[in-house]
Order: sequence, then structure tokens, then C-alpha cells
Amino acid sequence: MNNSVYLDNNATTPVDPAVARRVSESLDLYGNPSSMHTPGRQANRAIESARGEVAALIHARQSDEVIFTGCGSESNNAVLNVLFSPKLRQSGRKRFITTVIEHPSIYELDGMLESRGIEVVRIPVDGSGLIDLEAYRKALNEDTALISVMAANNEIGTIQDIPEISRRAREVGALVHTDAVQAAGKMSVDVQTWDVDYLSLSAHKIYAPKGIGALYIRGGVPFTPFLLGGHQEQGRRAGTYNTTGILAMGEAARLAREQLDEESRRIRTLRDMLQEGIRERIERIRINGSIEHRVPGTLNVSFLGAEGESILLYLDMEGISVSTGSACATGSLDPSYVLMELGIGAELAHGSIRFSLGRFTTEDDITCVLEKLPPIIQRLRRMSTL
Ligand code: PLP
Repeated sequence: MNNSVYLDNNATTPVDPAVARRVSESLDLYGNPSSMHTPGRQANRAIESARGEVAALIHARQSDEVIFTGCGSESNNAVLNVLFSPKLRQSGRKRFITTVIEHPSIYELDGMLESRGIEVVRIPVDGSGLIDLEAYRKALNEDTALISVMAANNEIGTIQDIPEISRRAREVGALVHTDAVQAAGKMSVDVQTWDVDYLSLSAHKIYAPKGIGALYIRGGVPFTPFLLGGHQEQGRRAGTYNTTGILAMGEAARLAREQLDEESRRIRTLRDMLQEGIRERIERIRINGSIEHRVPGTLNVSFLGAEGESILLYLDMEGISVSTGSACATGSLDPSYVLMELGIGAELAHGSIRFSLGRFTTEDDITCVLEKLPPIIQRLRRMSTL
């Protein structure tokens, strides 16, 4: 049974009907896109058109600066591989600067990087999740090879000042990557004004199916392929093209670009309605993340005296899907490291719920949550004081 109110769009999005149609059409394009015959050329043309759509979404100068990958995690991993490219090795630069709130596909690679001679520096964030620019400035030096800062955080939605981060990185000649998986489709993503060398995307966050991502690689910057043994993607990623996934991502990118302004306005209004409604109805809460610099659809709230997992399960029984930064979501009992880095303490981190709205969220959905949530919190708080 599908839950009727789906507020977990940062985890993944439903497939847009227009994207589903493109998936269906793609199945007729069975030719190997690398083949020279007609079916191959037809598939190849469709792929190049999809690449153009993804490039347009992020304002890349040329569509061949975009390669397709298996997911956002692969795009992130592939960028870190750049640290071992001959060009960077020769330069002698071995410092990698990142933040304490990156997605695990960056965050958890520290050990591997350090074991291979990279010096990893993690920049802290303030109470709203914005990186400490002073610590960042101090960390930058002539030894810095690469910096990676996410454009928008998946748990709290906080948006970083990527143009400023890039500007400072340029002063020491470092390469810049941003993980824009949670930013694409929610805000303007522009590799030119952001001045980044690499940028990661994932299709399933923009209403396309899972299993396809993309990576922007600015023309001329170092890149060491991650998957070897094929000429695809101009030698930057081996493996037969995923025609269906790529076409789906292209269509999703087109829709995201065309609907961005109107959609983000509509979603922001609904998110703010949810936020204010919760504030009015429930005491002892904390809104996590920056209020001002936040993607439109994300609302992360801690409910003091209630466990996130219990709230999630009670809401689920009411047909409402949300997520929690703590325990169950990660399969561990540790509170979310992102929330802990905000300095809110373990109790508030354990009581957090992330509501993430999307293209198909309606006002009725918000009304439903505002009706079902207060008695759940009340019940849980009563139970916890017993
Ligand atoms: N980066 C961020 C900020 C994410 O939120 C996610 C997914 O949750 C990823 C990267 C990984 O994307 P994928 O699920 O396509 O591997």
C-alpha cells in the first residue's frame, strides 16, 4: 500500500509521468549507442539530446562537459579520484578540503584518502549548517589540490555560498567540486557563476528513476576515469550507455529547468505553511538548518521529548511518509552526524524529523500532517515522561 502523503522527496522522488513516458519510449531505442548502424545512431542521438538537457540545467558551456554515471554517489567518488590524477600528483598538492556535513559518498572516504597520502581537512559549520568561512580561509594553502563543498544539504537543506567558496579556492589555485544532488531542480544551479570544475547530480532526486547520475567536468580540468576498459563518455567512464536512464534524466532535467521558478515558489509556500503550522500547534520544537539559506522543500524539526523513529512510525501508520536523521534511517543508534555538527545535542538530534516536499505535494497533504502530527507528539511526550 502506498502512503498517501509523501514528504520524503529528499530521499527520493516519484517518477514524473512525462519521464515515465520517456522511459517507455527509450525501450524501442535498443541499439548499442556506440554502434555505427542505424539503431545505434538513433540511440546515440537521443543520448546526446539528453546530455544537452542536463548541460542546460546546470548552464554548462558544452554538453560534452557532462558525463553520465550510475548515481550521485559514483559522481562524488569519481571526483575524489581526481586527487590521484597524474597532473595533481606531479603538482605535489595533497590537501583536500571538505566539510563536516557532506553526504557519506564524500564524508566516509576520508580514511581511504588518508591511507593514500592525502591530507583531509574538514571545515566545521555553524548552528545553521553554514560553513565557517574563516576556518575555510585558514585551511586553504598552496598545498590544496581540491575542495568539495555541497551546494545544499540533504538533511537540513542549508545552502552554501558556492561562488564565494570557489573565489577563495581560486586564490590558491585549487580545483573546486560541489555536490549539487540536493540543489538541482530546487534552486538555480550554474557552473559558470558558481565557477566550479566538477559538479555531481542524481536523477532520482529530480523525478527520474534510480540508478543514473551525472557529473560535470569542466573542459580541460584533470580527470582520472574510475571505470576503465571502454571508450564511452570519451574515455571518462567505461560501460555500455544506460540509454533508458540517460533519456529519463534528460527529460527530468528539461522539466526541472522549465518548472524551476514556479515550482520552487509553490513548494516554498507549502513548506512555510507546514513550518508555521507546526510552530503554532506544538511547543518545544527547534527548526534545524538555516531559515534564510535553505532549499524550498526542506523542513527539519526537532521535537523535544519525542523520538524521531517513533514519530516516523506513528506518521507512517497515518499514511504519511517522512524521514528521521537518527537511528533507523542509518541502521545505527547514533544520531545524525549532520545534526550533531550543528551543536544541538543528542537529545534534539534524536527527536528530529525531516519533511521534504516536492512536485506532487499538495496543500491537502500539509493540512493532513498538521492535523495528525500534534496528537502523535503529545502521546509520545506523555509516554516518555511516564
Ligand atoms: N549527495 C547528496 C547530497 C545526496 O542527498 C545523495 C543522496 O541522498 C547523494 C549525494 C547520493 O546520490 P545517489 O543516491 O544517486 O547515489
